[in-house]
Amino acid sequence: MQYRELANVYERIEATTKRLEMRSILVDLLRPLRGRELASALYLSQGSLRPEYEGVELGVAESLARKAVAEATHQTVESVARRSRASGDLGTTAGELLGDVRRVENDGPLELLEVYEGLTEIARAAGAGSQETKVKILVDLLRRATPLEGKYLVRFVMGTLRVGVREMTILDALATAFASEGKEARERIEIAFNLTSDLGMIAERLAAGGLAGLDSIRLEVGRPIRPMLAERAKSLEELLQRMGGRAALEYKYDGLRVQAHIAKDGSVRLFSRRLEEIGPQFPDLVRALPSAVHPHPAILEGECVPFDLGTGAIRPFQEVAKRRGRKHDLEQALEEVPVALFAFDVLLAGDELVYERDFPERRAVLEKLVRPSERIRIAEERTVTNVEEANEYFEEVVGAGAEGVMAKSLAEGSRYRPGARGFWWIKYKRDYVTHLADSIDGVIVGAFHGRGRRAGTYGALLLAVYRPDRDRFETFCKVGSGFDDAALAELPKRLEPFRVDRAPPEVDTGLTPDQWFRPSLVLEVKGAELTVSPIHRAGIGVLRPDAGLALRFPRFTGRYRTDKSATEATTSGELVEMYRMQDRGGTRSATGERPVRHKA
Ligand code: ATP
Repeated sequence: MQYRELANVYERIEATTKRLEMRSILVDLLRPLRGRELASALYLSQGSLRPEYEGVELGVAESLARKAVAEATHQTVESVARRSRASGDLGTTAGELLGDVRRVENDGPLELLEVYEGLTEIARAAGAGSQETKVKILVDLLRRATPLEGKYLVRFVMGTLRVGVREMTILDALATAFASEGKEARERIEIAFNLTSDLGMIAERLAAGGLAGLDSIRLEVGRPIRPMLAERAKSLEELLQRMGGRAALEYKYDGLRVQAHIAKDGSVRLFSRRLEEIGPQFPDLVRALPSAVHPHPAILEGECVPFDLGTGAIRPFQEVAKRRGRKHDLEQALEEVPVALFAFDVLLAGDELVYERDFPERRAVLEKLVRPSERIRIAEERTVTNVEEANEYFEEVVGAGAEGVMAKSLAEGSRYRPGARGFWWIKYKRDYVTHLADSIDGVIVGAFHGRGRRAGTYGALLLAVYRPDRDRFETFCKVGSGFDDAALAELPKRLEPFRVDRAPPEVDTGLTPDQWFRPSLVLEVKGAELTVSPIHRAGIGVLRPDAGLALRFPRFTGRYRTDKSATEATTSGELVEMYRMQDRGGTRSATGERPVRHKA
């Protein structure tokens, strides 16, 4: 396949906002492809060269890309810089400039695999002379590129290729192209994806052997599994009822979720909730795990929390965040902020695929597998069989400083479900008891200019939740409070990589911010309550045909959820659920508006 065909598909997808149309464009693209071509087309469309968890980066800074564009189009670097400042996108500028030069035709049109290999070489180039190598490969590709190809090539290397097709839409397209449109096929494909997080590999197997091609997919050490997620309950009564009258309540530790993979030879890889490799930030855990866990290989999950070396007490989560991004003085950070891992689940133990077993058996395996030490511990838990017991334990847990409990179903069928959110796990936090909404993880989609003390930075951000069934981001609030001076000052820089010059097609809102952003960065907010709003679109059509939900008095908690991707933010469905939950005790006026309840 020629790269041109892929570029055409990007162009068509960018022009549509309809998920069904996107899917059919994708189906037409994928259906004739096989093997490496198929996998490469998928990785490239996701803006990467390999599955995201491998963290392959091209290492091309903007200045380097500018240099390559200048060389390929016979321009000076200054003039390329000037033009791309004006257009706001180096890709667009590259496309325009390529329209004015003669293409090198000798080698024929760019093949998809040639492009993929060229880009892979760019990623591989390291050490002395690597910058020149990267520029050279890019120039060679650009000289042969059509304007449209050039535009997308440059966007790819800059990490700004935003075609706007998310994984779920690709899975739909794969089902239609290589299996069937039925629900069952789609589910099997999603299960395989949740186990492997590798779209390319799944597509290749599907294309070669249909659904049966997925049968041999198993979890593997070193390849992260999408984490199982929890639902919420309104009360401990409801929680127990959902779980059939009996549940294991565990401490809900407030830290960073970690999936630890310990290979047979004792080497350790750690993955975040977003499947990013985070071992290098936690060398102390990497060192402690092999001797605390037997047998190997093993895959376990736990929450990483900072603790006080002297007293053993858990410290606030924010302290872990201090470690992230500290590369140079990491050793010092290790001493300042020691962390412990509270293991709460096990997916693989030795050769056994434990994740397929029900929770009570997994917990028993976990207790045998882990020899607790200062750094590696097992999540505290108690089995409760009635509301009084549940209440007693909950009080105890909250009294000890935890944010709540995580209930785990003990029933038949309570196996580990990768990537799924369901009532097999239920979170119940102390915040629910005080009638405050749970915190919401919102995606930044826009910003408003600041005035007065905030002039020169943003004064408020427009936040959205994710709507999986529509694959869209629906806004629910405009947040300006909770930012201290430092947080305010760094906003423009932090948001720079996501700036776009028009409303992203996947965003739904009734507001027009001064600046739009590609939905990427997630942050945590709390508010007084959720109300029905004609301006915001979260859950539109669920409660009312023409109105969504809005959060009143939103406030940034100070926590960026860099461990979540945009589609892992709070969903519209969860927001609707939270709205219904807050009904307890609240009185509704005829308009559906609720009286304001202030935070305690
Ligand atoms: P979610 O992970 O459900 O999208 P979130 O990341 O905002 O939501 P919470 O709503 O606070 O997090 O709760 C779920 C998280 O709680 C888990 O992903 C995990 O990181 C953490 N956690 C803490 N203790 C436990 C435990 N004992 N069992 C499972 N998860 C736990």
